Amino acid sequence: MTKPSMPNEYPSGSFASGVPKPAPLALLDELQRARLEFETSSDARSDHGRDWWPLSIADVAVGRVPHWPGVVVKPRSSDEVSQLLRIASTHRIPVTAQGGRSGVLGGAVAPDGGVALDLTKLDEVISLDEISGHVRVQAGVFGPELENFLNARGWTVGHFPQSFDLATVGGWIACRGAGQLSNRYGKIEDIVRSLTIVLANGDVIEVGSNAPRQAIGPDLLSLFVGSEGTLGVITEATLVARRRARFEERAAYGFSSFEEGLEACRRILQRDASPAVLRLYDETESQRNFGHANCALIVLDEGEEYFVHATMHIVGEECAGATVLDVSLVERWMEHRNDVGALAPLWERGVVVDTIEVSGSWAVLSTMYRSVVETLASVEGMLAASVHQSHAYVDGACLYFTFAARPEDNATLLYRRAWDLATHAVLASGGALSHHHGVGRNRARFVAEALGPSFAILVAMKSELDPLNILNPGVLGIGGVPW
Ligand SMILES: Cc1cc2nc3c(=O)[nH]c(=O)nc-3n(C[C@H](O)[C@H](O)[C@H](O)COP(=O)(O)OP(=O)(O)OC[C@H]3O[C@@H](n4cnc5c(N)ncnc54)[C@H](O)[C@@H]3O)c2cc1C
Repeated sequence: MTKPSMPNEYPSGSFASGVPKPAPLALLDELQRARLEFETSSDARSDHGRDWWPLSIADVAVGRVPHWPGVVVKPRSSDEVSQLLRIASTHRIPVTAQGGRSGVLGGAVAPDGGVALDLTKLDEVISLDEISGHVRVQAGVFGPELENFLNARGWTVGHFPQSFDLATVGGWIACRGAGQLSNRYGKIEDIVRSLTIVLANGDVIEVGSNAPRQAIGPDLLSLFVGSEGTLGVITEATLVARRRARFEERAAYGFSSFEEGLEACRRILQRDASPAVLRLYDETESQRNFGHANCALIVLDEGEEYFVHATMHIVGEECAGATVLDVSLVERWMEHRNDVGALAPLWERGVVVDTIEVSGSWAVLSTMYRSVVETLASVEGMLAASVHQSHAYVDGACLYFTFAARPEDNATLLYRRAWDLATHAVLASGGALSHHHGVGRNRARFVAEALGPSFAILVAMKSELDPLNILNPGVLGIGGVPW
Protein backbone atom coordinates (compact mmCIF):
# COMPACT_ATOMS: atom_id res chain seq x y z
CA MET A 1 0.00 0.00 0.00
CA THR A 2 1.21 3.55 -0.76
CA LYS A 3 1.55 5.38 2.51
CA PRO A 4 -0.58 8.53 2.76
CA SER A 5 1.31 11.76 2.26
CA MET A 6 1.33 15.13 3.94
CA PRO A 7 -0.93 17.90 2.60
CA ASN A 8 1.70 19.89 0.71
CA GLU A 9 5.36 19.72 -0.31
CA TYR A 10 8.19 22.12 0.46
CA PRO A 11 8.89 24.33 -2.54
CA SER A 12 12.34 23.70 -4.04
CA GLY A 13 15.12 25.66 -2.37
CA SER A 14 13.32 25.67 0.99
CA PHE A 15 16.42 24.55 2.89
CA ALA A 16 18.79 26.96 1.14
CA SER A 17 19.11 29.15 4.23
CA GLY A 18 20.67 26.24 6.11
CA VAL A 19 19.84 23.09 8.01
CA PRO A 20 20.35 22.99 11.80
CA LYS A 21 22.64 20.28 13.15
CA PRO A 22 21.12 16.84 13.81
CA ALA A 23 21.00 15.22 17.27
CA PRO A 24 24.33 14.93 19.14
CA LEU A 25 26.68 12.17 17.99
CA ALA A 26 26.62 10.54 21.43
CA LEU A 27 22.86 9.96 21.06
CA LEU A 28 23.16 8.72 17.48
CA ASP A 29 25.94 6.32 18.56
CA GLU A 30 23.70 4.84 21.22
CA LEU A 31 20.83 4.42 18.74
CA GLN A 32 23.24 2.63 16.45
CA ARG A 33 24.52 0.36 19.23
CA ALA A 34 20.92 -0.51 20.09
CA ARG A 35 20.38 -1.35 16.40
CA LEU A 36 17.50 1.07 16.10
CA GLU A 37 16.63 2.32 12.62
CA PHE A 38 16.97 6.11 12.37
CA GLU A 39 17.37 8.92 9.82
CA THR A 40 19.06 12.31 9.98
CA SER A 41 18.59 13.50 6.38
CA SER A 42 17.15 17.00 5.94
CA ASP A 43 14.19 15.55 4.04
CA ALA A 44 13.27 13.16 6.85
CA ARG A 45 13.81 15.75 9.60
CA SER A 46 11.89 18.57 7.90
CA ASP A 47 9.03 16.23 7.06
CA HIS A 48 8.72 15.04 10.67
CA GLY A 49 8.65 18.61 12.01
CA ARG A 50 5.11 19.05 10.75
CA ASP A 51 1.66 17.52 10.83
CA TRP A 52 -1.77 18.57 9.48
CA TRP A 53 -2.06 21.56 11.83
CA PRO A 54 -3.01 24.40 9.46
CA LEU A 55 -0.07 26.45 10.74
CA SER A 56 2.28 23.66 9.58
CA ILE A 57 0.51 23.69 6.23
CA ALA A 58 0.94 27.48 5.98
CA ASP A 59 4.65 27.23 6.88
CA VAL A 60 5.34 24.60 4.26
CA ALA A 61 3.47 26.63 1.63
CA VAL A 62 6.07 29.40 1.94
CA GLY A 63 9.04 27.04 2.31
CA ARG A 64 9.49 27.48 6.07
CA VAL A 65 10.31 24.38 8.10
CA PRO A 66 8.25 24.70 11.31
CA HIS A 67 10.66 22.54 13.33
CA TRP A 68 13.82 20.52 12.77
CA PRO A 69 13.78 17.42 14.99
CA GLY A 70 17.31 16.15 15.59
CA VAL A 71 16.60 12.59 14.45
CA VAL A 72 13.76 10.42 13.17
CA VAL A 73 13.64 6.99 14.84
CA LYS A 74 11.60 4.13 13.36
CA PRO A 75 11.16 1.23 15.81
CA ARG A 76 9.42 -2.04 14.93
CA SER A 77 8.46 -3.38 18.36
CA SER A 78 7.58 -2.40 21.94
CA ASP A 79 11.07 -3.49 22.92
CA GLU A 80 12.67 -1.08 20.44
CA VAL A 81 10.42 1.77 21.66
CA SER A 82 11.52 0.90 25.19
CA GLN A 83 15.21 1.07 24.24
CA LEU A 84 14.68 4.41 22.51
CA LEU A 85 12.93 5.91 25.55
CA ARG A 86 15.71 4.72 27.87
CA ILE A 87 18.29 6.38 25.61
CA ALA A 88 16.24 9.59 25.30
CA SER A 89 15.85 9.67 29.12
CA THR A 90 19.61 9.45 29.56
CA HIS A 91 20.09 12.36 27.17
CA ARG A 92 16.97 14.19 28.37
CA ILE A 93 15.85 14.73 24.81
CA PRO A 94 12.13 15.26 24.09
CA VAL A 95 10.35 12.51 22.16
CA THR A 96 7.26 13.05 20.00
CA ALA A 97 5.27 9.93 19.14
CA GLN A 98 4.06 10.14 15.56
CA GLY A 99 1.53 7.99 13.72
CA GLY A 100 0.15 9.29 10.43
CA ARG A 101 0.77 12.92 11.55
CA SER A 102 -2.80 13.69 10.50
CA GLY A 103 -3.43 15.52 13.79
CA VAL A 104 -4.81 18.98 13.08
CA LEU A 105 -3.63 20.75 16.25
CA GLY A 106 0.16 20.39 16.14
CA GLY A 107 0.38 17.50 18.63
CA ALA A 108 2.60 15.41 16.34
CA VAL A 109 4.98 18.24 15.47
CA ALA A 110 8.37 17.17 16.82
CA PRO A 111 10.25 20.13 18.34
CA ASP A 112 13.66 21.42 17.26
CA GLY A 113 16.42 19.02 18.23
CA GLY A 114 13.98 16.41 19.59
CA VAL A 115 13.37 12.80 18.63
CA ALA A 116 10.61 12.24 16.09
CA LEU A 117 9.38 8.76 17.02
CA ASP A 118 7.81 7.51 13.80
CA LEU A 119 5.66 4.50 14.77
CA THR A 120 4.46 3.55 11.30
CA LYS A 121 6.75 0.50 11.17
CA LEU A 122 4.71 -1.04 13.96
CA ASP A 123 2.45 -2.11 11.13
CA GLU A 124 1.20 -5.60 11.91
CA VAL A 125 -2.31 -6.82 12.56
CA ILE A 126 -1.32 -9.48 15.09
CA SER A 127 -4.38 -11.67 15.61
CA LEU A 128 -8.16 -11.91 15.48
CA ASP A 129 -10.15 -13.79 18.11
CA GLU A 130 -13.25 -14.71 16.14
CA ILE A 131 -15.09 -15.96 19.22
CA SER A 132 -14.92 -12.76 21.26
CA GLY A 133 -14.42 -10.41 18.33
CA HIS A 134 -11.08 -9.00 19.50
CA VAL A 135 -8.41 -7.80 17.13
CA ARG A 136 -4.86 -7.27 18.40
CA VAL A 137 -2.98 -4.73 16.37
CA GLN A 138 0.27 -2.75 16.45
CA ALA A 139 -0.12 0.98 16.90
CA GLY A 140 1.25 2.07 13.52
CA VAL A 141 -1.36 0.22 11.45
CA PHE A 142 -3.42 2.58 9.25
CA GLY A 143 -7.21 2.35 8.98
CA PRO A 144 -7.40 0.78 5.50
CA GLU A 145 -4.91 -2.00 6.42
CA LEU A 146 -6.87 -2.87 9.54
CA GLU A 147 -10.24 -2.84 7.79
CA ASN A 148 -8.95 -4.83 4.79
CA PHE A 149 -7.70 -7.52 7.15
CA LEU A 150 -10.98 -7.59 9.07
CA ASN A 151 -13.37 -7.23 6.13
CA ALA A 152 -11.77 -10.23 4.40
CA ARG A 153 -12.84 -12.26 7.44
CA GLY A 154 -16.32 -10.73 7.77
CA TRP A 155 -15.47 -8.25 10.55
CA THR A 156 -15.10 -4.50 11.07
CA VAL A 157 -13.99 -2.22 13.87
CA GLY A 158 -16.34 0.47 12.55
CA HIS A 159 -13.95 3.37 13.25
CA PHE A 160 -14.02 5.58 10.15
CA PRO A 161 -12.69 9.09 10.76
CA GLN A 162 -12.64 11.38 7.73
CA SER A 163 -8.87 10.93 7.94
CA PHE A 164 -9.25 7.14 7.65
CA ASP A 165 -6.47 6.86 5.03
CA LEU A 166 -4.10 9.15 6.94
CA ALA A 167 -4.27 8.05 10.57
CA THR A 168 -3.03 5.09 12.63
CA VAL A 169 -4.65 3.04 15.37
CA GLY A 170 -2.22 4.57 17.92
CA GLY A 171 -3.22 8.06 16.78
CA TRP A 172 -6.94 7.24 17.02
CA ILE A 173 -6.43 6.21 20.63
CA ALA A 174 -3.93 8.93 21.58
CA CYS A 175 -6.33 11.63 20.32
CA ARG A 176 -9.51 10.04 21.67
CA GLY A 177 -10.96 10.09 18.16
CA ALA A 178 -14.41 9.53 16.74
CA GLY A 179 -15.35 7.89 13.45
CA GLN A 180 -18.12 9.05 11.15
CA LEU A 181 -20.27 5.97 11.91
CA SER A 182 -19.63 6.20 15.63
CA ASN A 183 -23.28 6.68 16.62
CA ARG A 184 -23.52 2.94 15.80
CA TYR A 185 -20.00 1.58 16.54
CA GLY A 186 -18.95 3.84 19.39
CA LYS A 187 -16.07 6.25 19.80
CA ILE A 188 -12.53 4.91 20.15
CA GLU A 189 -12.86 4.70 23.95
CA ASP A 190 -15.79 2.31 23.46
CA ILE A 191 -13.80 0.20 21.01
CA VAL A 192 -10.45 -0.19 22.78
CA ARG A 193 -10.12 -2.97 25.39
CA SER A 194 -6.44 -3.04 26.29
CA LEU A 195 -3.15 -1.37 25.43
CA THR A 196 0.56 -2.01 25.60
CA ILE A 197 2.22 1.18 26.77
CA VAL A 198 5.90 2.04 26.95
CA LEU A 199 6.43 4.51 29.77
CA ALA A 200 8.93 7.37 29.64
CA ASN A 201 11.54 5.35 31.58
CA GLY A 202 11.26 2.48 29.10
CA ASP A 203 9.08 0.18 31.25
CA VAL A 204 6.50 -1.75 29.24
CA ILE A 205 3.05 -2.14 30.84
CA GLU A 206 -0.37 -3.51 29.90
CA VAL A 207 -3.52 -1.59 30.77
CA GLY A 208 -7.11 -2.77 30.41
CA SER A 209 -8.12 -6.37 29.86
CA ASN A 210 -9.84 -8.64 27.37
CA ALA A 211 -12.82 -8.83 29.70
CA PRO A 212 -15.61 -6.49 28.58
CA ARG A 213 -15.49 -4.57 31.84
CA GLN A 214 -13.60 -4.61 35.11
CA ALA A 215 -14.11 -3.00 38.51
CA ILE A 216 -10.59 -2.77 39.88
CA GLY A 217 -10.44 0.85 40.88
CA PRO A 218 -10.28 3.75 38.43
CA ASP A 219 -9.86 2.77 34.80
CA LEU A 220 -6.13 2.97 34.02
CA LEU A 221 -6.76 2.32 30.33
CA SER A 222 -8.64 5.63 30.15
CA LEU A 223 -5.56 7.43 31.39
CA PHE A 224 -3.85 6.76 28.07
CA VAL A 225 -6.86 7.20 25.77
CA GLY A 226 -6.50 10.84 24.75
CA SER A 227 -3.05 11.27 26.33
CA GLU A 228 -1.58 12.58 23.03
CA GLY A 229 1.88 11.10 23.53
CA THR A 230 2.43 12.91 26.84
CA LEU A 231 2.08 10.01 29.33
CA GLY A 232 3.38 6.99 27.41
CA VAL A 233 3.76 5.52 23.95
CA ILE A 234 1.05 3.15 22.75
CA THR A 235 2.61 0.22 20.88
CA GLU A 236 -0.22 -2.33 20.69
CA ALA A 237 -3.98 -2.34 21.19
CA THR A 238 -6.81 -4.82 21.45
CA LEU A 239 -9.95 -3.49 19.79
CA VAL A 240 -13.48 -4.82 19.69
CA ALA A 241 -14.51 -5.97 16.22
CA ARG A 242 -18.10 -6.52 15.02
CA ARG A 243 -19.62 -8.67 12.34
CA ARG A 244 -19.94 -6.60 9.14
CA ALA A 245 -23.38 -5.15 8.53
CA ARG A 246 -25.59 -6.96 6.04
CA PHE A 247 -28.25 -4.31 5.62
CA GLU A 248 -28.32 -0.55 5.17
CA GLU A 249 -30.94 2.18 4.74
CA ARG A 250 -30.59 5.90 3.93
CA ALA A 251 -32.71 9.06 4.09
CA ALA A 252 -32.33 12.83 3.77
CA TYR A 253 -34.45 15.73 5.08
CA GLY A 254 -34.42 19.51 4.85
CA PHE A 255 -35.15 21.83 7.80
CA SER A 256 -35.92 25.53 7.62
CA SER A 257 -33.45 26.27 10.44
CA PHE A 258 -30.44 24.59 12.07
CA GLU A 259 -32.18 24.70 15.47
CA GLU A 260 -35.21 22.87 14.10
CA GLY A 261 -32.91 20.18 12.74
CA LEU A 262 -31.08 19.94 16.09
CA GLU A 263 -34.42 19.43 17.83
CA ALA A 264 -35.26 16.55 15.48
CA CYS A 265 -31.86 14.95 16.18
CA ARG A 266 -32.46 15.26 19.92
CA ARG A 267 -35.89 13.62 19.68
CA ILE A 268 -34.49 10.78 17.56
CA LEU A 269 -31.68 10.01 20.01
CA GLN A 270 -33.97 10.34 23.01
CA ARG A 271 -36.24 7.69 21.54
CA ASP A 272 -33.19 5.39 21.58
CA ALA A 273 -32.76 5.45 17.82
CA SER A 274 -29.09 5.92 17.04
CA PRO A 275 -28.49 5.76 13.27
CA ALA A 276 -24.84 5.24 12.33
CA VAL A 277 -24.81 8.58 10.50
CA LEU A 278 -27.00 11.51 11.52
CA ARG A 279 -25.41 14.69 10.21
CA LEU A 280 -27.11 18.06 10.09
CA TYR A 281 -25.69 20.98 8.09
CA ASP A 282 -26.49 24.67 8.45
CA GLU A 283 -27.62 26.72 5.42
CA THR A 284 -24.06 27.62 4.36
CA GLU A 285 -22.76 24.05 4.47
CA SER A 286 -25.93 22.60 2.91
CA GLN A 287 -25.50 24.95 -0.01
CA ARG A 288 -21.76 24.21 -0.25
CA ASN A 289 -22.04 20.42 0.01
CA PHE A 290 -25.41 19.64 -1.53
CA GLY A 291 -26.62 22.75 -3.39
CA HIS A 292 -29.62 22.96 -1.02
CA ALA A 293 -30.95 26.19 0.48
CA ASN A 294 -32.34 24.67 3.69
CA CYS A 295 -30.55 22.71 6.42
CA ALA A 296 -29.88 19.19 5.18
CA LEU A 297 -29.98 16.20 7.52
CA ILE A 298 -28.46 13.04 6.10
CA VAL A 299 -29.17 9.71 7.74
CA LEU A 300 -27.69 6.26 7.23
CA ASP A 301 -28.07 3.19 9.36
CA GLU A 302 -26.62 -0.28 8.97
CA GLY A 303 -26.78 -3.58 10.82
CA GLU A 304 -29.51 -6.16 11.31
CA GLU A 305 -32.49 -5.42 9.09
CA TYR A 306 -35.05 -5.35 11.96
CA PHE A 307 -33.06 -2.83 13.96
CA VAL A 308 -32.32 -0.66 10.94
CA HIS A 309 -36.01 -0.57 9.94
CA ALA A 310 -37.00 0.34 13.48
CA THR A 311 -34.38 3.09 13.71
CA MET A 312 -35.27 4.60 10.34
CA HIS A 313 -38.96 4.43 11.21
CA ILE A 314 -38.35 6.59 14.28
CA VAL A 315 -36.19 8.96 12.22
CA GLY A 316 -39.04 9.31 9.70
CA GLU A 317 -41.58 10.06 12.47
CA GLU A 318 -39.39 12.71 14.08
CA CYS A 319 -38.65 14.36 10.71
CA ALA A 320 -42.32 14.40 9.69
CA GLY A 321 -42.37 18.22 9.66
CA ALA A 322 -39.29 18.48 7.42
CA THR A 323 -39.01 18.32 3.65
CA VAL A 324 -38.02 14.90 2.35
CA LEU A 325 -34.89 15.36 0.25
CA ASP A 326 -33.45 13.14 -2.44
CA VAL A 327 -31.67 10.21 -0.83
CA SER A 328 -28.81 10.70 -3.32
CA LEU A 329 -27.51 13.36 -0.90
CA VAL A 330 -26.28 10.50 1.28
CA GLU A 331 -24.49 8.99 -1.70
CA ARG A 332 -22.85 12.35 -2.38
CA TRP A 333 -21.66 12.52 1.21
CA MET A 334 -20.36 8.92 1.02
CA GLU A 335 -18.38 9.74 -2.11
CA HIS A 336 -16.67 12.72 -0.51
CA ARG A 337 -16.46 11.65 3.11
CA ASN A 338 -12.73 10.92 3.03
CA ASP A 339 -11.75 13.94 0.92
CA VAL A 340 -8.91 15.69 2.67
CA GLY A 341 -7.64 18.00 -0.05
CA ALA A 342 -9.57 21.20 0.72
CA LEU A 343 -7.40 22.85 3.40
CA ALA A 344 -3.94 23.05 1.86
CA PRO A 345 -4.84 24.86 -1.40
CA LEU A 346 -6.72 27.54 0.57
CA TRP A 347 -3.77 28.18 2.91
CA GLU A 348 -1.47 28.24 -0.11
CA ARG A 349 -3.67 31.02 -1.55
CA GLY A 350 -3.39 33.00 1.68
CA VAL A 351 -6.82 32.11 3.15
CA VAL A 352 -6.83 31.31 6.86
CA VAL A 353 -9.05 28.27 7.26
CA ASP A 354 -9.67 25.71 10.00
CA THR A 355 -12.27 23.60 11.77
CA ILE A 356 -13.25 23.64 15.45
CA GLU A 357 -15.11 20.61 16.81
CA VAL A 358 -16.67 20.86 20.24
CA SER A 359 -19.56 19.29 22.12
CA GLY A 360 -22.37 20.26 24.43
CA SER A 361 -25.58 19.04 25.99
CA TRP A 362 -28.82 19.55 24.06
CA ALA A 363 -29.77 22.22 26.59
CA VAL A 364 -26.91 24.51 25.49
CA LEU A 365 -26.38 23.51 21.89
CA SER A 366 -28.54 26.13 20.14
CA THR A 367 -27.07 29.00 22.16
CA MET A 368 -23.57 27.68 21.59
CA TYR A 369 -24.14 27.36 17.85
CA ARG A 370 -25.39 30.97 17.52
CA SER A 371 -22.74 32.37 19.81
CA VAL A 372 -19.78 30.69 18.04
CA VAL A 373 -20.95 31.45 14.49
CA GLU A 374 -21.67 35.10 15.40
CA THR A 375 -18.36 35.43 17.24
CA LEU A 376 -16.40 34.01 14.32
CA ALA A 377 -18.30 36.22 11.85
CA SER A 378 -17.29 39.28 13.89
CA VAL A 379 -13.55 38.65 13.36
CA GLU A 380 -12.11 41.13 10.90
CA GLY A 381 -11.44 39.55 7.52
CA MET A 382 -13.83 36.62 8.11
CA LEU A 383 -15.26 35.33 4.83
CA ALA A 384 -17.42 32.49 6.16
CA ALA A 385 -18.28 30.74 9.42
CA SER A 386 -20.48 27.67 9.30
CA VAL A 387 -21.41 24.56 11.27
CA HIS A 388 -22.66 21.01 11.12
CA GLN A 389 -23.71 18.50 13.75
CA SER A 390 -21.61 15.38 13.24
CA HIS A 391 -22.06 13.00 16.20
CA ALA A 392 -25.20 12.77 18.32
CA TYR A 393 -25.85 11.28 21.77
CA VAL A 394 -28.85 10.81 23.97
CA ASP A 395 -27.90 13.95 25.92
CA GLY A 396 -26.07 16.17 23.43
CA ALA A 397 -23.99 16.37 20.27
CA CYS A 398 -20.78 17.47 18.59
CA LEU A 399 -20.84 20.74 16.68
CA TYR A 400 -18.18 21.12 14.01
CA PHE A 401 -17.48 24.71 12.97
CA THR A 402 -15.54 25.76 9.88
CA PHE A 403 -14.13 29.22 9.31
CA ALA A 404 -12.31 30.91 6.44
CA ALA A 405 -10.80 34.39 6.56
CA ARG A 406 -8.58 36.62 4.47
CA PRO A 407 -6.05 38.41 6.68
CA GLU A 408 -5.16 42.06 6.13
CA ASP A 409 -1.60 41.37 7.22
CA ASN A 410 -0.69 38.76 9.87
CA ALA A 411 -2.39 35.41 9.16
CA THR A 412 -1.16 33.79 12.40
CA LEU A 413 -2.60 36.58 14.55
CA LEU A 414 -5.95 36.34 12.82
CA TYR A 415 -5.91 32.56 13.22
CA ARG A 416 -5.13 32.82 16.92
CA ARG A 417 -7.81 35.45 17.47
CA ALA A 418 -10.47 33.36 15.75
CA TRP A 419 -9.58 30.37 17.95
CA ASP A 420 -9.45 32.49 21.15
CA LEU A 421 -12.86 34.06 20.57
CA ALA A 422 -14.59 30.89 19.38
CA THR A 423 -13.18 28.82 22.25
CA HIS A 424 -14.25 31.33 24.86
CA ALA A 425 -17.73 31.37 23.32
CA VAL A 426 -17.84 27.57 23.60
CA LEU A 427 -16.65 27.48 27.22
CA ALA A 428 -18.96 30.36 28.21
CA SER A 429 -21.91 28.41 26.76
CA GLY A 430 -21.05 25.36 28.86
CA GLY A 431 -19.57 23.32 26.00
CA ALA A 432 -16.49 21.06 26.00
CA LEU A 433 -13.20 22.27 24.52
CA SER A 434 -12.90 19.38 22.06
CA HIS A 435 -15.04 16.47 20.93
CA HIS A 436 -12.54 14.36 18.95
CA HIS A 437 -9.53 16.23 17.53
CA GLY A 438 -8.00 16.67 20.99
CA VAL A 439 -5.76 19.47 22.22
CA GLY A 440 -2.31 19.25 20.60
CA ARG A 441 -0.39 22.52 20.73
CA ASN A 442 -3.09 24.79 19.37
CA ARG A 443 -5.53 24.26 22.22
CA ALA A 444 -2.93 23.86 24.98
CA ARG A 445 -3.53 27.43 26.19
CA PHE A 446 -7.18 26.65 27.01
CA VAL A 447 -6.80 23.38 28.95
CA ALA A 448 -6.32 24.83 32.45
CA GLU A 449 -9.47 26.94 32.04
CA ALA A 450 -11.45 24.07 30.50
CA LEU A 451 -10.56 21.60 33.28
CA GLY A 452 -10.65 24.05 36.18
CA PRO A 453 -9.09 22.84 39.45
CA SER A 454 -9.00 19.23 38.16
CA PHE A 455 -6.21 20.33 35.79
CA ALA A 456 -3.91 19.74 38.81
CA ILE A 457 -4.61 16.00 38.53
CA LEU A 458 -3.42 15.95 34.92
CA VAL A 459 -0.27 17.84 35.91
CA ALA A 460 0.34 15.40 38.79
CA MET A 461 -0.05 12.38 36.50
CA LYS A 462 2.41 13.92 34.07
CA SER A 463 5.06 14.48 36.76
CA GLU A 464 4.59 10.98 38.12
CA LEU A 465 4.70 9.15 34.78
CA ASP A 466 7.22 11.38 33.01
CA PRO A 467 9.36 13.04 35.70
CA LEU A 468 12.04 14.11 33.19
CA ASN A 469 9.36 15.65 30.96
CA ILE A 470 10.58 14.01 27.76
CA LEU A 471 7.21 12.92 26.33
CA ASN A 472 5.78 15.55 23.97
CA PRO A 473 6.33 18.49 26.36
CA GLY A 474 3.79 21.29 25.97
CA VAL A 475 1.17 19.20 24.21
CA LEU A 476 -2.13 18.87 26.08
CA GLY A 477 -1.18 22.00 28.04
CA ILE A 478 1.27 20.10 30.27
CA GLY A 479 5.03 20.04 30.62
CA GLY A 480 5.75 23.15 28.57
CA VAL A 481 4.74 26.67 27.67
CA PRO A 482 1.55 26.60 25.56
CA TRP A 483 1.78 27.97 22.02
C1 LIG B 1 -8.75 15.95 6.84
C2 LIG B 1 -8.78 15.43 8.24
C3 LIG B 1 -9.94 14.88 8.76
C4 LIG B 1 -9.98 14.38 10.06
N1 LIG B 1 -11.12 13.77 10.50
C5 LIG B 1 -11.15 13.22 11.74
C6 LIG B 1 -12.31 12.51 12.19
O1 LIG B 1 -13.30 12.36 11.47
N2 LIG B 1 -12.28 11.99 13.44
C7 LIG B 1 -11.20 12.11 14.24
O2 LIG B 1 -11.22 11.59 15.35
N3 LIG B 1 -10.09 12.79 13.84
C8 LIG B 1 -10.04 13.32 12.62
N4 LIG B 1 -8.91 13.99 12.19
C9 LIG B 1 -7.79 14.20 13.11
C10 LIG B 1 -6.72 13.08 13.08
O3 LIG B 1 -6.77 12.38 11.87
C11 LIG B 1 -6.95 12.14 14.23
O4 LIG B 1 -6.70 12.81 15.43
C12 LIG B 1 -6.10 10.86 14.18
O5 LIG B 1 -6.58 9.98 15.16
C13 LIG B 1 -4.62 11.09 14.39
O6 LIG B 1 -3.95 9.89 14.11
P1 LIG B 1 -2.45 9.89 13.57
O7 LIG B 1 -1.99 8.49 13.47
O8 LIG B 1 -2.34 10.69 12.34
O9 LIG B 1 -1.73 10.61 14.78
P2 LIG B 1 -0.64 11.76 14.76
O10 LIG B 1 -1.19 12.96 14.08
O11 LIG B 1 0.64 11.23 14.29
O12 LIG B 1 -0.53 12.07 16.32
C14 LIG B 1 -1.54 12.75 17.00
C15 LIG B 1 -1.22 12.80 18.49
O13 LIG B 1 -1.20 11.49 19.02
C16 LIG B 1 0.09 11.17 19.52
N5 LIG B 1 0.35 9.79 19.10
C17 LIG B 1 0.27 9.27 17.85
N6 LIG B 1 0.52 7.95 17.89
C18 LIG B 1 0.78 7.64 19.17
C19 LIG B 1 1.12 6.44 19.84
N7 LIG B 1 1.23 5.28 19.21
N8 LIG B 1 1.33 6.50 21.18
C20 LIG B 1 1.21 7.67 21.87
N9 LIG B 1 0.89 8.82 21.28
C21 LIG B 1 0.68 8.81 19.95
C22 LIG B 1 1.04 12.17 18.92
O14 LIG B 1 2.15 12.41 19.76
C23 LIG B 1 0.15 13.39 18.79
O15 LIG B 1 0.07 14.08 20.01
C24 LIG B 1 -8.84 14.49 10.88
C25 LIG B 1 -7.66 15.02 10.35
C26 LIG B 1 -7.62 15.48 9.05
C27 LIG B 1 -6.34 16.02 8.51
